[in-house]
Amino acid sequence: MHSTASDGELAPAALMAAVARAGVKVAALTDHDSVAALAEARAVAAELGVQLVNGVEISCRWDAHDIHVVGLGVDPESSALQAQLAAQMERRRQRAEQMAQRLAKLGFPDLLAAASDGAPQGIPARPHFARALVAAGVCRQEKDAFAKYLAQGKPAYVKTEWPGVDEAVAWIKASGGVAVLAHPHRYKMTRTRLDRLIRLFAEAGGQALEVVSSNQDAASVRQLAGFCTQYQLHASQGSDYHGPSMRWVQVGRMPALPAGCQPVWPLLGIQELSS
Ligand code: AMP
Ligand code: MN
Repeated sequence: MHSTASDGELAPAALMAAVARAGVKVAALTDHDSVAALAEARAVAAELGVQLVNGVEISCRWDAHDIHVVGLGVDPESSALQAQLAAQMERRRQRAEQMAQRLAKLGFPDLLAAASDGAPQGIPARPHFARALVAAGVCRQEKDAFAKYLAQGKPAYVKTEWPGVDEAVAWIKASGGVAVLAHPHRYKMTRTRLDRLIRLFAEAGGQALEVVSSNQDAASVRQLAGFCTQYQLHASQGSDYHGPSMRWVQVGRMPALPAGCQPVWPLLGIQELSS
């Protein structure tokens, strides 16, 4: 799940309240390149009876793809992790300026301030630019802003020198976490390429694949379960909840892992997710 510490819509406390309302007992907060929300979320989660898993979702680059590696159970106080995440935010700050320059060239000169408003540390991610493009009346919906301007290959997309997948795995493990390859089917790779990515991830010490994520068809789930068996990886579930305006993603409403998958949560000391 994501909060306002990255590109989510809900502040950490409101997010935990939504989790509790949905009857969810265990939730991982995995903001993009940030652990800033975890302290507030933890304080509220304890009161609400929600077991919070400290998480982070690290932006990586591999073979011309932007890849996300989730760390579950990381120590948010780790100074090494905090230093790496500070470097990630600096990359984000520079990328935001370059995106704003590209959008200015496309005829939208005043978007940086609007996109930065409410963004974590004043550093807008692409969804913040998408919201600003909608608010300015340039696009009708945020997904149109991605399709026309912000997605890879579109005119306002800026290639970023994110760390390698192996580096992110190393940071996560050094801070006590379990590394999970996020939503492997969203990278739109051929099977051969996905196989290479998963092999590299496993060789780097990655421990789990996100086998079930939102908007995923049954064939993809089966394929990912097969990769788990092939590379002896555990299986995770992620809703990737960003807030109520994503109507197709509901808190805690996800299909179960396929039979035969080894769930990732015992590695975090959690035996059962259901109450
Ligand atoms: P960023 O961290 O700035 O690269 O933004 C990544 C986030 O943008 C992802 O986590 C998604 O929530 C969102 N996103 C990426 N691609 C799309 C897309 N094509 N349509 C809508 N949202 C997207
Ligand atoms: Mn992601």
